[in-house]
Amino acid sequence: MKTIGIIGGMSYESTVEYYKIINEEINKRAGGLHSAKMLIESYDFAEIEKLQTEGNWVKLAEILSDSAKKLEKAGADYIAIATNTMHLVADEVQKSVSIPLIHIGESAANYIKYKNIDTVALLGTIYTMTKPFYKDKLKEHGINVIVPNENQQHIINDIIFNELCVGIIKEESKQKLNSIIDDCISQGAKAIVLGCTELPNIIKEAKVEIVDTTKIHSLEIVKRILE
Ligand code: GLU
Repeated sequence: MKTIGIIGGMSYESTVEYYKIINEEINKRAGGLHSAKMLIESYDFAEIEKLQTEGNWVKLAEILSDSAKKLEKAGADYIAIATNTMHLVADEVQKSVSIPLIHIGESAANYIKYKNIDTVALLGTIYTMTKPFYKDKLKEHGINVIVPNENQQHIINDIIFNELCVGIIKEESKQKLNSIIDDCISQGAKAIVLGCTELPNIIKEAKVEIVDTTKIHSLEIVKRILE
């Protein structure tokens, strides 16, 4: 088995899911007492979120690249960034190391294609929904991407940062997200991409296929480290 180096803590609420899914899947496949060989670099998310708000992606690329180098030096065979948003700097992180980065958007795109889905709605942070990095990754694979309207984007972003990243799950927020999802379905979305690694903690099902990026990314990691 190879070793995965996870860049996490963005937020801890989803890194813990990666830890659990990866270990459970390794155990399911390898049996006995087998579990994953994993290194985790976990941040103080307040520091990361501040830089995101300031739009300081250059600094963020530096921070994540430093972590990737540290993980490589510590023995990681692969790197994974355990958040969709921070894939905004994935190219810089990949360039900083000689081991492969397992890209969350790439994993999601492959899953969507495997499922023969041509049009998806993308839900995530304001950065993921408005900036091109993630939408383009899906579009590169021939997938059409619908994003919620501006007002809905703010509602989703607030729920992510004020609630989900600190483990708060509110019924009221779940209803708001479900009505946004229904709206996206009425616009032609055949699947809903939970393009934020905390969203699967609140959205478990919809009238169409759910693309759970936390799970899909974690399972791709398992596949690669067992190869
Ligand atoms: N974990 C979230 C994501 O997948 C949001 C936190 C962040 O801004 O990195 O995008």
